[in-house]
Amino acid sequence: VTVDVEDFHDGMVELGHPVPGEGGIRLGDLLDLLHTGQLGEGARLTFFVVGKFAGSCRAPLVELAERGHEIASHGPDHGQLPQDRRELVRWLAAGREMVEQVVQRPVVGFRPPRFDAPASMPLGAYREAIGEAGFTYVSDTRASPAGGAAGVVELPVTRVGPVPLGGGSYQRFLPRPAVAAILARARRPAVFYYHSYDFSLDALPPLTTARSAAEVRQLLVRRRIPRVFLEVLGRFGSVTCREVASELRPVL
Ligand SMILES: [Zn+2]
Repeated sequence: VTVDVEDFHDGMVELGHPVPGEGGIRLGDLLDLLHTGQLGEGARLTFFVVGKFAGSCRAPLVELAERGHEIASHGPDHGQLPQDRRELVRWLAAGREMVEQVVQRPVVGFRPPRFDAPASMPLGAYREAIGEAGFTYVSDTRASPAGGAAGVVELPVTRVGPVPLGGGSYQRFLPRPAVAAILARARRPAVFYYHSYDFSLDALPPLTTARSAAEVRQLLVRRRIPRVFLEVLGRFGSVTCREVASELRPVL
């Protein structure tokens, strides 16, 4: 189970649909949810953090790391990946270092902000650039035939047919028991993802003020996500991506 730590308002700006209001990252509600005993202390999640926000949530990130969760990179910002290879490696490494400086621990995992890949390079070359920037695994939507390339393990998010049902943004549209039943049959390792703002709903604008179709899509029944998250986590538990990746060496 993974959580992308990012700001809703900043994400909408990057998508070209700015939303009025205060942004910011709040992780307190999620920390409470994880550690109030409902789930026990056994679940270990991976948090992919946008570098430019890491400093603003240092204390909760350090607390999460101390509790056995993994802190990983979601890029230095939530923009698109650079197309130029050298620029890409620099961008990837910058995102890793920004988070490492805050949590004072090595960061080994990367998830692209938009689950994208540079159109200008083959998948193998992209994986190589990720390895060169200091990562040992990547979690997006792609999988090389050999299960990885250039020593980088791939942990694609769970899909059911064409639907990336590993995402809370998709799970919110289905009844909770249906989500759990479908995911129980999904290929292993299963990778699920949620967003930090799903757990601090007072940080989201109300649906009634939405000014674009893109914003309506983002906000519709989003308040269901924490309950779906608890159902999924309670049923399947979680280990970190780093733990899974260390058991899955890519076939080179
Ligand atoms: Zn993201």
